[in-house]
Amino acid sequence: MTVPIPTTQQGTVVVNPGPSYQIIHRDDLPVPQPGDHEVLVKLTCTGLCHSEIRATSGWGNYNPIIGHEGIGTVIQTGSLAPQSLLSSRVGVKWLYSACTHCSICTSGHPHYCPHQRNTSRHVPGTLQQYVLADARFLTPIPETVTDEIAAPLLCAGLTMAGALDRLDGVLRPGDSVVISGSGGGLGHLGVQIAARVKGWRVLAVDSGEEKRRLSMEAGATEFVDFRAEDVVARVRELTDGEGAHATVVVPGDPSAFRVAADLVRNLGTVVCVGLPRNDFELPVSATLCAARGISIVGSSVGTEEQMAELLQLAAQGVITPAVKCYGFDETAKIIRDLEEDAITGRAVVRIPQ
Ligand SMILES: [Zn+2]
Ligand SMILES: [Zn+2]
Repeated sequence: MTVPIPTTQQGTVVVNPGPSYQIIHRDDLPVPQPGDHEVLVKLTCTGLCHSEIRATSGWGNYNPIIGHEGIGTVIQTGSLAPQSLLSSRVGVKWLYSACTHCSICTSGHPHYCPHQRNTSRHVPGTLQQYVLADARFLTPIPETVTDEIAAPLLCAGLTMAGALDRLDGVLRPGDSVVISGSGGGLGHLGVQIAARVKGWRVLAVDSGEEKRRLSMEAGATEFVDFRAEDVVARVRELTDGEGAHATVVVPGDPSAFRVAADLVRNLGTVVCVGLPRNDFELPVSATLCAARGISIVGSSVGTEEQMAELLQLAAQGVITPAVKCYGFDETAKIIRDLEEDAITGRAVVRIPQ
C-alpha cells in the first residue's frame, strides 16, 4: 500500500520559549525524509505531557515542535529500517534513540543512556502530521487498544509503570504508597497500577473534587486534598502514625518534594518523578536521611518490556487512562491549563488528517 506523502504539513510550533512564549499553528512545515534507521509516521493523535511546560517555559533546549506521545501509522521506511513496519500502527515516545552499546543500554535500560536522544527535545515532536521515529525504538500498538487510550500510556503510563516497578521487592501487597498529583495525567495511571496490579494501598494526594473522584475511581483507598488538609499529618493518621512505606512524587511542583520525606516511615522510599526547574534541589536533611534509613530514587519513563506489559493491561481493561480529546487548534489552551494544573486525567490532541 502506497500512501501519498505531501511535501508540506501542518504543525504546532513553540515560539520564543520563556515567560512570553507563543504557540503558533503552521501549515508550511516540511515533511521530513527518513534517515537510514528511521521511519515516517503519519500521526492520528498525541497526548500532551505536563513536562511540555518545561519546553514552553524555556527550562532547557527543546525542539519547537513539542509532544512525545504520538500514535500513527508507518508510511515510509529508511534504508536500514524493516520494510515490514510499513502500515503498522506504532507509538512514538520520548526516547527517540539511544547509543545501544554503553553499559546502561546493554543492561537493558536505554532510557537512561547518557547519549540518548529525545522526541520533542533533540528531534521534532508529535504536534505535527508527520513525524520521524527511529525504527529501533518504536512501540507496536495492539489492535484492541484505541489511539486515544494508547497515547497517554506512551509517556504518562510508562513513567508510572517504571516508577512503581522501582518499588518491586521493596513493598509487599497491602503496603501503603502515597502518590502525589494523583488526579493528573501520570498520577491517575499510577494509582491504577499501584492498586490494581501491585495490590498496594494507595493514599492519593491532589486537590479538588474532580481529581478526588478520578483518584478514587482509579483505586485509591484514601484521598488527601493538599489545599484543604495538612498532608503530612493526615498521611500519618492514615498509617498508624508511622508514615507510608513509600511515596512517588509526580508533580513538578517544589512543594510536593518538600514534604516527600516526611510522608514515609523510617526505611521508607521516595521515588522522584516530577520535573521541577533544573536548579531546584531536593530539600532533605542528610542527617535525617541517614538516621531514618530513607531511600531516594529517581525514575524516568521505562523499558520497552514495561511498555508492552502496560499496553497488554490496557487491552485487558485493567488499566484505562481517563482521556479528554481536543482539536489541534486547542493546543495553546491545553498548555495553559497544564501550567495551571487544571487538567484532570490526560489531554489528547487529534491531529488533522
Ligand atoms: Zn512526557
Ligand atoms: Zn547507551
